[in-house]
Amino acid sequence: PADRVSHFSRDVWSIFTPLAMETKAINLGQGFMNFAPPAIVQNAAKEALEVVEANQYSHPRGRPRLRNALAASYSEQFDRKLDPETEILVTAGANEGMFATFAGFLDAGDEVICMEPFFDQYIPNITMNGGKPVYVPLRPPTDAADRVISSHEWTLDIEELKSKITPKTKMIVLNTPHNPIGKVFDENELRAIGQVAEENNLIILSDEVYDRLYYPPLNKFPRIANIDNLWERTITVGSGGKSFAATGWRVGWLIGPDHLIKHAFAAQTRVVFCVNSPCQEAVAAGLENALTKPIFQDQIDQYLHKKSILSKLFDELNLPYTMPEGAYYILVNTSKIQIPKDFEFPEILEDRGADFKMCYWLTKQIGVCAIPPSEFYEREHWPLAANFARFAFCKTDEVLEQAVERLKELK
Ligand code: GLN
Repeated sequence: PADRVSHFSRDVWSIFTPLAMETKAINLGQGFMNFAPPAIVQNAAKEALEVVEANQYSHPRGRPRLRNALAASYSEQFDRKLDPETEILVTAGANEGMFATFAGFLDAGDEVICMEPFFDQYIPNITMNGGKPVYVPLRPPTDAADRVISSHEWTLDIEELKSKITPKTKMIVLNTPHNPIGKVFDENELRAIGQVAEENNLIILSDEVYDRLYYPPLNKFPRIANIDNLWERTITVGSGGKSFAATGWRVGWLIGPDHLIKHAFAAQTRVVFCVNSPCQEAVAAGLENALTKPIFQDQIDQYLHKKSILSKLFDELNLPYTMPEGAYYILVNTSKIQIPKDFEFPEILEDRGADFKMCYWLTKQIGVCAIPPSEFYEREHWPLAANFARFAFCKTDEVLEQAVERLKELK
């Protein structure tokens, strides 16, 4: 195998998703929904299959209907009239959009700043394109193990960020709402990060795939591309899968100025050429619908309830956690949970963080699968995640209630 892949070990998803299936555990691990996309979106996908042309290649930048719908939906969000010809690129899921961006900008040895914990895919996306990830931590408050904290209390030290910049630094990856913390960066935080990008001429890749999911008291989602002049150096990433409960459709997008989007486009054309046509039609239908109907607000209301089903349980179990401001994960401190001494773990967990064992035991013995977040830390920082488990609440209320019943055994 090539060096670029030979060191990859089994990723967290390929361990825990099959494990949840085998053990018939309730899967609150990988963040996918166990309910259908909105009917309008699902029906639009079916209808698209009946249209001869919608089964063929799309325009490599994305189907015009979807780019127009994205421009209509996001122009208001970005406070500018987006040009669907040049400022929007439809991608094969958000992940491929990020891969194409790294491919479009990184030369061998270029450094990319990633905040830790990070969504795991960023790292191979960077290294496969010759780049080098450089980590800067998001830190919880020092008493986080003793109480419920807000995701807003996880903070970035700007001086520490500055200390990581070298002549090789080319990009910074931002993730808001953040996976796995749920943090929504506020305008002051975004401005401070943006200033560092300005001073050092960095490109900002802002992964905002959970942009439609943020919780009160937040009533607006702040975007770094809207601050000062940062539009000029920012590519924002979005996701049809997250927006419309269709994570397997692999329809995402990049939004940014022509002078940046065109290089991601150049790379993407040589990777996937174009994106799944019928699903683009369906995502377009969803966005068109959302222009006049409160489907995103309804979704927020539903997710608020789902979040409370789990948070109430963790309160009851007296387990500290991070209350997310956005996205659909709760990071729980598991240090009070005792694993019986005689419990045996499979070999595959040997060279992993301690949190892998906790999540394995929860899946196998309690029947609820969670994700060990050390996967979101560089190896030498695995101990920072030793006492955490990430629970996803993008599931039906019924399934969440069943999980609650099982987790009550931890009392
Ligand atoms: N974004 C989802 C999560 O964090 C799943 C990602 C994946 O499977 N690669 O759970």
